[in-house]
Amino acid sequence: MSELDQTITAMDLWCLALPVVSRRDHGIGSVEGACEVVVLRLTAEGGTQGFGEASPWSVFTGTPEASFAALDRYLRPLVLGRRLVERAAIMDEARYAVAHCTEAKAALETALLDLTGRATGVPVHALLGGKCRDAIPLSCSIANPDFSSDIRLLEQLAADGVGIVKLKAGFREHAFDQMRLEHLAQHHPSLDVRVDFNQGLSIEEAPDRVRRVAGFGPTFIEQPVRAHHFALMAQLRAAVDVPLLADESVFGPEDMTRAAAEGICDGVSIKIMKAGGLNRAQTTARIAAAHGLSAYGGDMFEAGLAHLAGTQMIAATPEITLGCEFYQAKYYLTEDILEEPFPIHDGQVVVPDSPGLGGRPDVDKLDHYAKVRA
Ligand code: MG
Repeated sequence: MSELDQTITAMDLWCLALPVVSRRDHGIGSVEGACEVVVLRLTAEGGTQGFGEASPWSVFTGTPEASFAALDRYLRPLVLGRRLVERAAIMDEARYAVAHCTEAKAALETALLDLTGRATGVPVHALLGGKCRDAIPLSCSIANPDFSSDIRLLEQLAADGVGIVKLKAGFREHAFDQMRLEHLAQHHPSLDVRVDFNQGLSIEEAPDRVRRVAGFGPTFIEQPVRAHHFALMAQLRAAVDVPLLADESVFGPEDMTRAAAEGICDGVSIKIMKAGGLNRAQTTARIAAAHGLSAYGGDMFEAGLAHLAGTQMIAATPEITLGCEFYQAKYYLTEDILEEPFPIHDGQVVVPDSPGLGGRPDVDKLDHYAKVRA
C-alpha cells in the first residue's frame, strides 16, 4: 500500500488566544491583548500527524469562532476516513461545503499538505511544484500607535538585518503618518519602505492623503480605501506614480481576475488566509503575473505555524517577488507556538527543506493557550 493510501483517522482543534507585546493599529481595525487563531491537527492511520493554522481577523477575513465552527462542524466530515491521495478532491468539496471561511480552508489544506509531506518524506514546497528560492526577504510592520515603541523596534530590526518595513497608516491624521515617514527617511534611509492604509481612508480624504504619502516615494501604497471600492482604487492608481497594491480587494483568483480587468492595482498582496488555501494563493499570484502585476507575500495576525505554510507556498511561487511579512512569531507574539523558532536569519525567512512544513507546534503550548478544544 502506498503511503498516500493511508486514511485520516482523527481531527483535533484548538482555538488559541496568544498574548501580544503591544497594541497595533491597522487602518480600519486594531489588535490588543491577544490574537486568536485556530490550530488543526490531522492524524493518519499510520500515526503520522499534520498541522494547520487558521488566522482570521474579524474586520478583514472573518472570526475565530467561524473558523473553528467551519472546521469542527462542516469540514470534519469531508476529511475523516479519506485517503491522503484525495487532497484535491477534499479541498474542492471544502470550498463549497461552507461559504467564505477561507482561513479554515487554508488551515485544512496546510494540515493535509503537512501530513502528506511527512508521510512521504518531502517538504511541502515539493508538493506545490518545487522550490524557486531558499530565502524570502522579511518585512516588519510599523503599527504601534505609540511611535516611541516603534522607534525601539526599528533599532532592533536594523540590528537584525531586516531591510523592509511597512508603515501602517490611515488610523490617525496625516501629520502622524508624515512624522513617521520623515523619521524613517532621516534615521533609516536604506530601508525599503512600503505604506499600507488597510482600507482606512474615506472616499473624500483618499485622493489627497494618497497623493501626499506618494510624495515620500514608498515602494508601494497598499489598499487605501474599502475593499469594494474598485473604481476608486483604479482612480487612485491613475493619480499617483507610486505602485498601488490591492490587499482586502483581492481574496482569491476570482477577485484577481476582476481586479486585473478593472485596472485597480499594480500589484497584489497574496495570503493563504484570503485565498482559502495554498494552491489558490499560487493561482492568484499567477493570474496577477499573467496580467503584468507584481505579488507580495502578505499575512494576517499569525503564529509561526501559518508563517511556515505561507513560506512553503512562496518558496514554490516564483511570481511572488516583493518579499513577505511573516514577522509576528518573532516580533509580535509574547510566545510563539512552534517547537523550534520560526526560521529568520539576517532579515530573511529561511525556507525549510525537512518533510512537511518544516516545523510543528508544541502541543503543550496549544493546550496552555487553548480557549476551546474539540
Ligand atoms: Mg494589507
